[in-house]
Amino acid sequence: MILRRREVLYSALLGGTAHAAPGSASAGMSWQDLEPGSLRHVDLEVPGGIDAGTFIPATIFRGRQAGPVLSITAGVHGYEFPPILAAQRLLKSLSPGLLSGTVLLVRIAHLPAFQRRSLFLNPIDGKNLNRVFPGRANGTQSERIAEVISREVIERADLHIDLHVADGSEDLSPYVRVYGGLLAREQFAKSKLMGLAFGFPVAVLYRMETRQQVDGGRSCNRQAVAGGKPTLLVEMGAAGRRDERWVAGIENGILNTLRALGMLPGPLSEAVAPIWCDGERSVVSQHAGILYPAAVAGQQVRAGQVLARITDYAGAPLKDYLSPADGVLLHLQAAPPISPGEEIAAVAPLLNEAL
Ligand SMILES: [Zn+2]
Repeated sequence: MILRRREVLYSALLGGTAHAAPGSASAGMSWQDLEPGSLRHVDLEVPGGIDAGTFIPATIFRGRQAGPVLSITAGVHGYEFPPILAAQRLLKSLSPGLLSGTVLLVRIAHLPAFQRRSLFLNPIDGKNLNRVFPGRANGTQSERIAEVISREVIERADLHIDLHVADGSEDLSPYVRVYGGLLAREQFAKSKLMGLAFGFPVAVLYRMETRQQVDGGRSCNRQAVAGGKPTLLVEMGAAGRRDERWVAGIENGILNTLRALGMLPGPLSEAVAPIWCDGERSVVSQHAGILYPAAVAGQQVRAGQVLARITDYAGAPLKDYLSPADGVLLHLQAAPPISPGEEIAAVAPLLNEAL
């Protein structure tokens, strides 16, 4: 249900180079009434229910020419700022007059968390939006946000990109997750194409082999995988920060992906051959104490190499935590506090086959 919607004429923003057609108030993220070569801002309404309502700021770019529909989500975690700022930049750098196809851009998927600077969780219902897809129209606020994004955005798209940064105080080196495996076999080629276009040093193949992998605590990106869309997860930057290199890196990655998909004209960025990895293995703490990292995100590590040490609060060693595989250290907890059950690090084993 769309109760509120705001339209801004592209021509008003850019001096009449293109313009938006009027649309019906119930159109949501549909673009059929939008003139080719124009864009429209939409506030997708998330109606109140058992708790407060909210809205999702989004933009439809309808290309001048026909082509694929790419959906992009920024801010599923509202404290992850670089993707949200990159989405703001795309409002200027992505011209619908040059576009073939349609881009459905969710600028801030999780507005209540963004407004409150809330790490991971929705401040209204305490849930992680990225674990409640496809959502429920009669659920709590996070579930209702997920339901609107699933229905209005992902369902309408042919391809999907979900943008994230390091969780909380993690140290993270940029990487892309490309989806393949038994349940995403036909999606793999385009997922890989999008992943390579970001030019990141590490690409991780996520093999979707079981329903549990697709469905368990379903994330926004796995909602797209479940719908049969070639899907890419992008990880670059750190939560709570706004470093230019990350904002520009995400923006440029999206524009280059659009060129790689044939949706924008122009030459591709210089190709980078990433290190390919095969899934990821979590290292989880069994202890409460103080954590001391012994490796750096992005580093290639050996099986058995110390990744972090944990001491008790008096400084006595409790345990050294080791890499479970030869691979790339994707991310590592950088903050001193650590508790049982918390992830210390994720290592992506090197892929042993050519793709
Ligand atoms: Zn995230």
